[in-house]
Amino acid sequence: LFVAFEGGEGSGKTTQSRLLAIWLRDQGYDVVQTREPGSTKVGMRLRAILLDAAEKGLSARSEALLYAADRAEHVEKVIRPALQRGAIVVTDRYVDSSLAYQGAGRELDPEDVSKVNAWATGGLVPHLTVLIDTPPEIGLTRLGGAADRIEAEPLAFHERVRKEFRALAAAAPDRYVVVDGTLPSDQLSRAIQDRVREILPD
Ligand code: C5P
Ligand code: MG
Repeated sequence: LFVAFEGGEGSGKTTQSRLLAIWLRDQGYDVVQTREPGSTKVGMRLRAILLDAAEKGLSARSEALLYAADRAEHVEKVIRPALQRGAIVVTDRYVDSSLAYQGAGRELDPEDVSKVNAWATGGLVPHLTVLIDTPPEIGLTRLGGAADRIEAEPLAFHERVRKEFRALAAAAPDRYVVVDGTLPSDQLSRAIQDRVREILPD
């Protein structure tokens, strides 16, 4: 079982993916909790480049390819091996982040971003994607000030990202569950658990 968390900055993906992993482990499941970018040796180096505020001039295409490279490593070295041994994989971000950030955010052709990522991942799609939908002005405030290169993008960029996540969810209602990121954490985690329970293996 492969579950992805998606959402904008400060939406609570990291907290909620951890809580879900704990809840699943409590029930005896083997769980691999991971994130993008930066969950492999090469991925950590790519993350450093991608988030470095000094890399202001990075071209949109290079950015998309570096995220895809990180993801290819992630799938081959972490996600597929875990799924193969029967573990549940919970990832904080996956392909839809690229459709939202590099596609809508950077205004690259979504078809291109989609094709590059289908190739990078060998077509691996999550069984369930949890979108924690949060207005960017709230998410960015939670971070207490933009820290990395992408968080520092203007609000309009983050609005495009949010809109694209919502459109992706609306286009794939069977794969997506959308939760309101302004709700208290315990309500969010319960809503997520209710949805995940429906697809748990025995
Ligand atoms: O989730 P987290 O904040 O750790 O993600 C790291 C950064 O990478 C974020 O600022 C996020 O906006 C950015 N990102 C991106 N494109 C992706 C994935 C993440 O711009 N495809
Ligand atoms: Mg961030």
